[in-house]
Amino acid sequence: MQLDILTLLVMTAVNLLMVSAALPVIMGRRISIAARCAQLSLLAQSIGWWAIIASGHGYALAMMTLSVAFFGLSHWLMHRALGGWLGHRPGERWLRALVVLAPLGYALGAFNDAFRAGWGNFCLAAAALIVARATLMPLRQSTRPWRWLLFACLMTMAVLTAARGVLGAFLTSSYPSFQTPHPVNLATAVGANVTLVLFTVAVLVAWREEAEGKLRTMAMTDGLTGLFNRRGWTDRAEAMFANAQRYQQPLTMIMLDLDHFKRINDNHGHEVGDQALKLFARLLRETRRTGDLVGRLGGEEFCIVLSNTHKSASSGFDQRLRSRLREVAHKELGFAMDFSAGVAVLKDGDATLAGLLARADLALYQAKNNGRGRLVMSEGGLGATVI
Ligand code: GH3
Ligand code: MG
Ligand code: MG
Repeated sequence: MQLDILTLLVMTAVNLLMVSAALPVIMGRRISIAARCAQLSLLAQSIGWWAIIASGHGYALAMMTLSVAFFGLSHWLMHRALGGWLGHRPGERWLRALVVLAPLGYALGAFNDAFRAGWGNFCLAAAALIVARATLMPLRQSTRPWRWLLFACLMTMAVLTAARGVLGAFLTSSYPSFQTPHPVNLATAVGANVTLVLFTVAVLVAWREEAEGKLRTMAMTDGLTGLFNRRGWTDRAEAMFANAQRYQQPLTMIMLDLDHFKRINDNHGHEVGDQALKLFARLLRETRRTGDLVGRLGGEEFCIVLSNTHKSASSGFDQRLRSRLREVAHKELGFAMDFSAGVAVLKDGDATLAGLLARADLALYQAKNNGRGRLVMSEGGLGATVI
């Protein structure tokens, strides 16, 4: 079997071009910056290969410099995509320097073939290594297979590029131009073909994982206020409940319900009612401490779990929230708002979160019955303290 380098290179460039044209169609217009960067990375790779092919037909130095620039750009774009998917971009500054310096050094090194070949290839190999490293360091929860696939592709390209660098810098006499059937060229051309396919698969899986994550977040979030909805809140509250039980830590729950909210809707309209809900949610967020869990359980009913907090702290929270609401509602909405609150604390015999929630709800009911605009603390539903 005779493998023709030029045919392999043309096929790689054509396939990359096809993939970068097809991906935007498959993935649609409304995609994240990360997914867009991954698409553009494949396009940049394609341009890089076309430039190499064109270098055999004239303007060799200009075309090869262009290819180095586009391969560098392709690495930078993939690094950005990984940043969006995995939460950070380790080695960003180094990569940026390499991407700029690779074509610059390649063009300026026109007088010395060994320098030029070594510089261009080593810079690109180092850039591939930085991107490969980023696949191993996710900050966000992410599955492993697609990251390993990308890692394998990038490492393969890094090794092949470095091999060309070694040949170019130290064995200049046998340095193969891309058109010659040298084993390194053959390996590079075949490697580029294989990695193109695997790269595309990895990008599609990463994109699907991103979409699933977004759906999961949407299913757990209240669209109006941005707080957790009942489902999202319950998931996390269950975990806090179990933790507090296991480590015998105090846990306090406050149920809050806006007073006469129906009147706000009736007097000012539903839109203003929505504004009021958003404002209340914002104040809840601002008043809680890190680690406290706030959610909108329905309509104008909210709940906060204060982690590692005794009952006494709940009245402080209530007062801070109440005075902030008094101050801000007038300023931003033009009318006063108030709320009732019911508190329950975790006790030794508590078996489920639902039991704790029911006690907080009962205390809230008592707060409403006692005239609204107040906090009631529950002690197992038998006695209640009004504040
Ligand atoms: P109470 O003091 O007893 O709690 O009286 P209330 O009027 O606050 O309570 P009620 O349960 O009678 O009414 C709640 C109202 O909240 C009725 C419903 O239309 C309104 N509401 C529920 N969800 C939304 C929402 O997303 N936006 C707006 N604007 N109103 C909502
Ligand atoms: Mg209400
Ligand atoms: Mg209500």
